Amino acid sequence: MTGAEYVRQCLLDAGLATLVDPRRGPVNQYRYQRHASSKQKDMAKAETTTCAWPNCRKPADECQVHHIHPWADGGETNQENLTLLCEFHNSWNDDNPAYPRHGRVNRRHGHITWDPPWGGGP
Ligand SMILES: [Zn+2]
Repeated sequence: MTGAEYVRQCLLDAGLATLVDPRRGPVNQYRYQRHASSKQKDMAKAETTTCAWPNCRKPADECQVHHIHPWADGGETNQENLTLLCEFHNSWNDDNPAYPRHGRVNRRHGHITWDPPWGGGP
């Protein structure tokens, strides 16, 4: 039994299908690749079915992959640094928290959160 077969047998019924996706390719691409792979985008869709911005209902299939810690600032194309935002919120997000205008998505304790422009957050 391969490792993939073992994981599939034990976890598929629990709904953890992204762990058994047989497609090749790394989960994390670090700084080697700016654009998320289709595998990474599918994994992000397993986390959220819509744009991650609060109250936005844009379907995940129509969203862009967003670097929470911006690529331009050294962010990596790793799953924990990725989420899905619609085109509008991807441009609306405050990538630089030093100049808050609209707020920004973040990840805390493994969950996507939203930090308001006036500070604080969950
Ligand atoms: Zn949105």
